[in-house]
Amino acid sequence: MRLSRRITGLTGGGSDGWDLFLQARRMIAEGIAVTELTIGEHDTRTHSSILDAMDRSARGGHTGYAMVPGTALLRDTVAARVQERTGQRTTRDNVLITPGGQAALFAAHSAACDPGDTALFVDPYYATYPGTIRGVGALPRAVIARAEDGFQPRPDVIEAEADGAVSLLINSPNNPTGVVYGRETLEGIAKVCQDRDLWLISDEVYDTQIWEGAHLSPRALPGMAERTLVVGSMSKSHAMTGSRCGWIVGPEAAISHLITLATHTTYGVPGFVQDAAVFALGQGRDLEEEIAAPFRRRRDLAWHILAGQNAVRLSPAQGAMYLMLDIRATGLSGEAFATALLETHHIAVMPGESFGKAAAGHVRVAMTVADDAFVKALKTLCHFAAQQASGLPEG
Ligand code: PMP
Repeated sequence: MRLSRRITGLTGGGSDGWDLFLQARRMIAEGIAVTELTIGEHDTRTHSSILDAMDRSARGGHTGYAMVPGTALLRDTVAARVQERTGQRTTRDNVLITPGGQAALFAAHSAACDPGDTALFVDPYYATYPGTIRGVGALPRAVIARAEDGFQPRPDVIEAEADGAVSLLINSPNNPTGVVYGRETLEGIAKVCQDRDLWLISDEVYDTQIWEGAHLSPRALPGMAERTLVVGSMSKSHAMTGSRCGWIVGPEAAISHLITLATHTTYGVPGFVQDAAVFALGQGRDLEEEIAAPFRRRRDLAWHILAGQNAVRLSPAQGAMYLMLDIRATGLSGEAFATALLETHHIAVMPGESFGKAAAGHVRVAMTVADDAFVKALKTLCHFAAQQASGLPEG
């Protein structure tokens, strides 16, 4: 049977860049001990107090269909959180609860794009972005954020790509670069969106993981609440990746149509998961800090290790659970470096090329293993890079 082009063309026909990740998983399945610094999954599990809340809710009977837009309590909780962080009036009518941030990204593009429309996204990018855009029948167009600009997207570059576009997808704190967009960058982006009448889709799933500077949501900027769709999630902030609970916050008219979309697609999120999210968000910043603490600690450890050498350069590591390392001094591509590191030292990192063109010659390190193993792997990586850079044989 023929399958639709929309589904068969999701990854654009090329490799999805995850070959190295799959190779690492194959090695692990064969019994080889691999230090996996590949995907954005905490090495801690969901907090037991959150699991208790989930259990109480499920045993209390909240196992039937939940309200499609989300429970009133969770929508109110998310609205209050967003209002507090943006200063913009936000009510439950601005909030749709979704099965994770990924479903929110799909919903946001469904709201902004018709089939055939062009949707902008920033390269380097989180792996699913172009496929999500293709998934709604739109055409992804990359806007390059250069390493030389600290991976901050430049408004003039966005402007130059904006002809025919209807939306722009940004992500700060950023996966894969670990960069947090500054106020100047965001104000520049806001201006382009207003001048070119673009929806701004702002993926803020790492907003609790800030190591330097401050998180600024573009929903807070003048004139932006009416054209911004904010994507949020419990996955990263509360180590609830498997619970699939996220949201989209935007103008009431967009949310009301997105509730209809949810009725015809996801049909909501389990009630006991939403109750657990209400509990988790109710614990405030202390719990968020506790969950972010290992990454903050490892980022500091990495900073010290990397300061003592010059074969590897660290991009500004301001937030999120990743380090983007410039390994161009080795003369290798990110892919060749990552493959050699995996084969020689059984350390798996992601080639920068998996995240687009702009991170070529880089590798992304997820800070998601215990401190000892992390330090050991990073030191080995630096040593390996130094050997490659000086042309010495490995030994
Ligand atoms: N956006 C970014 C930038 C991510 O890194 C991820 C997950 N790795 C997501 C969205 C989706 O997260 P989830 O669906 O678990 O909320």
